[in-house]
Amino acid sequence: MTQAVPQSSALETTWQDRALAHLWLHSDDLEWPEATRPGGLPVFESGDGAILRDVHGKSYIDGMGGLAVVTVGHGRREIAEAMAKQASALAYTSASTATNTASIRLAEKLAAITPAGLERVFFCSGGSEAVESAVKIAKQLQVLRGFPKRSKVIARRGSYHGTTGGAMALTASASERYFSPFAPGATKIPSPNHYRPNFSDDPVQEDLACARALEQEILAQGPETVAAFIAEPISLSNGTHIPTKQYWTTIREICDRHGVLLIMDEVITGFGRTGTMFAADQYVVPDLMTMAKGLSSGYVPVAAVVASPEVFEPFTHKGNALNHLLTFGGQAVAAAAALANIEIIEREQLVARSAENGAYLKGRLEQIAANHETIGDVRGVGLMIGVEFVKNRESRASWGSGSGFIQRLLELTRDLGLVTRIWDVMHLAPPLVIERDEIDRLVDIVDEALTKCESEFAEEIG
Ligand code: PLP
Repeated sequence: MTQAVPQSSALETTWQDRALAHLWLHSDDLEWPEATRPGGLPVFESGDGAILRDVHGKSYIDGMGGLAVVTVGHGRREIAEAMAKQASALAYTSASTATNTASIRLAEKLAAITPAGLERVFFCSGGSEAVESAVKIAKQLQVLRGFPKRSKVIARRGSYHGTTGGAMALTASASERYFSPFAPGATKIPSPNHYRPNFSDDPVQEDLACARALEQEILAQGPETVAAFIAEPISLSNGTHIPTKQYWTTIREICDRHGVLLIMDEVITGFGRTGTMFAADQYVVPDLMTMAKGLSSGYVPVAAVVASPEVFEPFTHKGNALNHLLTFGGQAVAAAAALANIEIIEREQLVARSAENGAYLKGRLEQIAANHETIGDVRGVGLMIGVEFVKNRESRASWGSGSGFIQRLLELTRDLGLVTRIWDVMHLAPPLVIERDEIDRLVDIVDEALTKCESEFAEEIG
């Protein structure tokens, strides 16, 4: 039965009521009991740069750029106009039998800005689809190369690669309780952590031990059964730990030694987020790279897998076509929006701005950390910063993601006008266009919220 929504009475029916009547909210970051509290579900109406405005006219700093999506900022008319122009000319052609000029232009652009050696572009609609596609490409490629048993994929603990069937099997937080058994053939190895190390307090030793775990896992599984290794070059979901270059060069060597394809999942890190166009630019060139989010800054759902010529070549032979089809891959309006978005990133030099403003934001957070016992660590690169909260700096005791302290801190920051996400780590990934005074305001909000929260939870701190 549907609930009637009065059309005229804004006083009786709020946007929140209307949302709760029919929307099925995503994710467990906002549980239904919280969302249904008065004011518990923010409803936004407009945005400008790094600022969001809700239906009551209140402004917020978009501290996480949506979900590490919005790079060029909200309200970019130029992208809207590019989309309108493309939609009026041609919105859709089927990727199964043809293509369109917008997709060709975007593929050329992506081939030009991804690391040298990546140049073949497969379009899809979101990060999970990109991961599914990359894994299918890897598996089919192994068969085409004469290794029909190479079907396993190794991922990392703490990683996030999406929530559709195949991607979920590679995502560390996938719910065993509800969705197992997962797609077979996925195993996981430790991920570098310089704050709570797996192996060593020395960052290089920690990273080398984590990299060697890949070789051990390949050997344990049997190299003749492993298709690929997938990892985010820097993992936001795993707490924004920054691996050393040695980690990635060692991973690259191990993959090459054992004929295992390296898939870098740049769904979050791509398009300037980490201070370079792609995080891979700071490390090594993968065989396959996935991208989404910042590809369009969220103006349209669009994603891609970019591959090396060596990966692509076997698919060019008669009878070897990729056994995969996504109806919306290469949608023309999406391609036009992504192109306009990348043009803004380049013209406004947002990659350099991410590096500079990220260093500034990190520095300001380190300053306030001096006054807050509960800030255990500030880390990150570019505008991808994590602030880890602890009960005690010495022992590094965690609060726990859903703890009263973390929930209260989230509530306070939001009341003060900052939208972000806090697990044990506060995730800060604002639009790359964020201004210095907005960064200052963001840090002031964290400072003020933390001061209040620390006084409310004083008995549990220390
Ligand atoms: N890969 C990474 C690294 C991600 O962070 C995400 C989403 O946050 C995904 C894949 C899945 O993307 P989507 O939610 O667009 O399916």
